[in-house]
Amino acid sequence: MLLLQPCYDLDCLARKNLHIHTCFSSCGKPEMNTADIIARAEECGLEEIALTDHYNDDIDADRFLVRIAYLRREASKAQGGLKVHIGAELSCYAPGQTLEPPQVRQALDFRLYSCNHYHLDFWGQPDDLSPRGYALHSIETVGSLIESGKAHGIAHPFIGRFIKAHPDRTAVTREIGDNELGELMERSARKGCAWEINTGAVVSDPCFARRLWHLGKETSSVFTFGTDAHRLCDIDPFRRLSEIKNILQ
Ligand SMILES: [Zn+2]
Ligand SMILES: [Zn+2]
Repeated sequence: MLLLQPCYDLDCLARKNLHIHTCFSSCGKPEMNTADIIARAEECGLEEIALTDHYNDDIDADRFLVRIAYLRREASKAQGGLKVHIGAELSCYAPGQTLEPPQVRQALDFRLYSCNHYHLDFWGQPDDLSPRGYALHSIETVGSLIESGKAHGIAHPFIGRFIKAHPDRTAVTREIGDNELGELMERSARKGCAWEINTGAVVSDPCFARRLWHLGKETSSVFTFGTDAHRLCDIDPFRRLSEIKNILQ
């Protein structure tokens, strides 16, 4: 059982890497098999990990559930006290819209949702394609997901790196006001939905990451930590932790 509680100690948060892709994800390298992921996580001294493969429009529920059952069998072989949660990076691709049927949600220990994979063909796009248009669309999408109660956490919140129309990765997050973000975070704290401190997102948009972190503390929000690992060498959250700490201070 995955227990998510407010914690603002980054050393503590980093001991749970809750965003790891296996080779079942198209972005996951062939080396990302369960046994090697677990061995690497144990070497790094992690306490918990979550396997979070994508649930996009290229897989149906039955095949996904077969994979989940396989990963659960493999994870049960973990020795040495590492907890392995079987999760997914699910898709909230427009306000009120998620792809997966209820049986997929029920099969998962950890439901991490992306709300900003705007580079994918099936993803909803705003009518207004300006940075503010994307900001409003993202706020509405994330808000609807929080209210639905489906999500345990939100992956790489709001980062604009998937938006092809705006190569400046910070163009959209700069359009999100502190009041808008704070209000969403208050709602998420009431609903028990967490925000991810995602290594790549923090480094690529430090200013927004700092705002998210500080507003999260003010609103007693829950954070998770994830490296979004696609390679074995990315599993270790401590590799870039001092960089993350410097940014979030
Ligand atoms: Zn993602
Ligand atoms: Zn991911």
